[in-house]
Amino acid sequence: MAETETEVKRQETDRSQPTLEAEREEAAAKGQPKPGQRAEVTNLEIVQHYFDKAADHLGLAEDLKTVFWTPYREVTVQIPVRLNDGKMAVYTGYRIQHNGARGPYKGGIRFHPEVDIDEVRALASLMTWKTAVVNIPFGGAKGGVNCPADDLDSSEQQRIARSFMDKIEKVLGPTRDIPAPDVNTNAQTMAWFMDEYGKLHGHTPAICTGKPIELEGSYGREAATGRGCVYTFREAAPHLGLSPADTTFAVQGYGNVGSWAARIMQQLGATMVAVSDAHGAIRSDAGIDANALYDHIFKDGGTITEFPGAEPIDAEDLIAVPCDVFIPAALGGMIHEHNADRMQCKVIVEGANSPTTPAADEILRGKDVYIIPDVIANAGGVVVSYFEWVQNLQHFRWDEREVNDKLGNIMRRAFREVSGRAKEEKLDLREAAYLVGIERVVQASRTRGYV
Ligand code: NAD
Repeated sequence: MAETETEVKRQETDRSQPTLEAEREEAAAKGQPKPGQRAEVTNLEIVQHYFDKAADHLGLAEDLKTVFWTPYREVTVQIPVRLNDGKMAVYTGYRIQHNGARGPYKGGIRFHPEVDIDEVRALASLMTWKTAVVNIPFGGAKGGVNCPADDLDSSEQQRIARSFMDKIEKVLGPTRDIPAPDVNTNAQTMAWFMDEYGKLHGHTPAICTGKPIELEGSYGREAATGRGCVYTFREAAPHLGLSPADTTFAVQGYGNVGSWAARIMQQLGATMVAVSDAHGAIRSDAGIDANALYDHIFKDGGTITEFPGAEPIDAEDLIAVPCDVFIPAALGGMIHEHNADRMQCKVIVEGANSPTTPAADEILRGKDVYIIPDVIANAGGVVVSYFEWVQNLQHFRWDEREVNDKLGNIMRRAFREVSGRAKEEKLDLREAAYLVGIERVVQASRTRGYV
C-alpha cells in the first residue's frame, strides 16, 4: 500500500460537537429505531444469537455452552467526578473479562452514555472469538464508562480515565488484562491509563495498547482497525468480481475506524460516495475526498454537513446510497430489520462491532450481500495491539512497514482460514468465523484442563 499511517496522519480530534439526543428520543417515541439509528435488539442478543448458532453447529453440550458464553469476571465500579461547572457526576464503569483460556484478557474501553453491563458483556465475548479467529494469544474482555463523552472536555475525561483505572487496576496487568481504545477513547486516554497505573506499579507500558507513539505506542496502531477492514475486503474482492480501484464505498461513522478505512480505501483508488457521523450525513456521486474530510472535521473543527462539494442527506438515507462496499463504523445494531432491505451495496465490511442484527443478516443474505463480519473485519486493531504489547515487553520498536506487513499476513491467513471453512461447510463467513473462534477457545480450555 502506497502510504503509511505516519505519512497521512492527521492531528488531534475535536469531539466537542452537539449530540443527537433529541433525534434519538423522537425515534424511541415512535417505538422503532429510525433507520440510521440503532435497533431495539441489544448487542448482547446479537452476539448470543451468533454464538448459539455456531455452538449448536459444533454440537457443544448445554453446560459447555454456559461455560463459554458467561463471562469469567465482571467488575462494576462507581466513578464520581467533579465536573468543570463544580457539580459532581457519578458514572458507572465496567470491566468484563469474558474468557482467558488462550491468554491475557484483551479489549477496549469505551466512553459513551449508552454503555451498560449487557453491552459490555456482548463486546467482551466478541473479543474472545475475535482474538481466537486471528489466532493471537489473548482472551477477550471489554470495558466502558457510561459518561456523555461528547459533552465532556479533556480535563473531565482525564479525571474519569484516572478514576476508572484506580478502581480496576487490581484486575489488570500486562499478563492479566490489557485495555485499548474504543468509542470515544483514544491514544490520549491510554496515556492517562498508563500513567495512573504506573503511579502504583512503576512504568508499565504493556498495561494498555493504542498509546501515543511518544509513549511506547506502536506505529500503525491508530490506523490498524481501518487498515484491517481494507485488507479483508482486498482478500474478498477478486472472488466477488470486484477490483478495489474501481469500487465505490460508503462509511457510517467517521471516527477512528471509519476515517482510516476510508483513507486507505482511497489509497487503493476506491471512491467514497457517502459518509456520516453522529451529526449528519453527506453524499456525492463524484466522490468525497477522505483526507480533506478528515482535515475539515478533525483539524478545522467543521461539521460533516458543511463539507464543501457534497450534498447533505438524511442520516437514515445513507444506508440506501448505491455503492459497492458499505462500511458500518459507528455503533452496534445500526443495520436492522427496518432498514436492511434498503441497502444497495454488494459487500458489507463490518468495521463496527455487532452492526448487523440477526434479522438484518437474514434479509441481506436474501439479497446476496456478502458480509465480512466484525470478528474478522475489524480484528486489525487487536492484532496491532498484540504487536504493541510484544514491543513493549521487549522495550523495542518495529517500524511501520514491518507492523503493516505483519498485520497483512495475519489478516490474510485468518480470512483464508475462515472463508475456506465457510466453503467447506457451506456456511456464511460469520458462522464460519464463530466456528473457528469457538473451536480454538474450547480446545485451549480442554488442554488446560478447565473443562
Ligand atoms: P470513534 O469514537 O473514533 O468513532 C465513532 C464514530 O461513529 C464517530 O464519528 C461518531 O460521530 C459516529 N457515530 C456515532 N453515532 C452515530 C450514528 N448514529 N450514525 C452515524 N455515525 C455515528 O470510535 P471507533 O474507535 O472508530 O469505533 C467505531 C466502531 O468500531 C465501534 O463499534 C467499535 O467498537 C469498533 N471497533 C473499534 C476498534 C478500534 O481499534 N478503535 C477496533 C475494533 C472495533
